[in-house]
Parts: sequence; C-alpha cells; structure tokens
Amino acid sequence: MINVTIKIGDMVEYRRDWGRGGYFEARVMNIEVGSPRQEVSEISWEDHEEAIFIMNDGHWCSGYQIQAVIPPFCPYCGEQFEDEEGRDRCGCPESQKARDLDRELDEISARRKGE
Ligand SMILES: [Zn+2]
Repeated sequence: MINVTIKIGDMVEYRRDWGRGGYFEARVMNIEVGSPRQEVSEISWEDHEEAIFIMNDGHWCSGYQIQAVIPPFCPYCGEQFEDEEGRDRCGCPESQKARDLDRELDEISARRKGE
C-alpha cells in the first residue's frame, strides 16, 4: 500500500487475537503513538505498525493487525469512491444530484455573506 494514510473515521479491516484471528471491519476511533502515548488524527501506512488503534466495535489493536483501509462507498449506489482524487462521491446520477445541491447551498450561503 503506497501513499495510504489511516485516519480517525476510516473503516479498516483488522485481525483479532494478535493478528492470527478472524478478520473484522471497524471504524477507527482513535490512533495513539509513542510512549507516553499521544493521540494523532492520522498516520501513514509506513508508520502504522508503531500505533495503537482504538475501534468503534469496542476492540483495540496494534498496527500490525490492520490488514487494509477500506475505501468509502457511495451511500446512493454502493460503489467505491474514487477518492485518490479527493472526491467525496462517485459518478452516479444520485451522487451528482447531491453534489449539485451542495453547490447550490454553497452559492446561497456565499450570496448571503455578501449581502
Ligand atoms: Zn454513487
């Protein structure tokens, strides 16, 4: 995995039981590094084995137990986002409509600020 960053809020796949157990998917709630431990909001894939990850399923794990970062999926069509370009939605018509609505709302609030 090149150029992957694990951030708070990301869904990841991890293995329980010191990396030998079953595969589970959970959302990262907290990332802690160093001694004494310090919270960070993200960590590169390169350094992730140094970190402790607190999950939203009530478990925590060491970095080596993390198998992959699961890319976010579109809430409308279920397709994977093309997020390497920083887009927060896929290209399906529903997500395009939502994007247009976002833009309209942005324009309205920008106009309000200008008044
Ligand atoms: Zn979509």
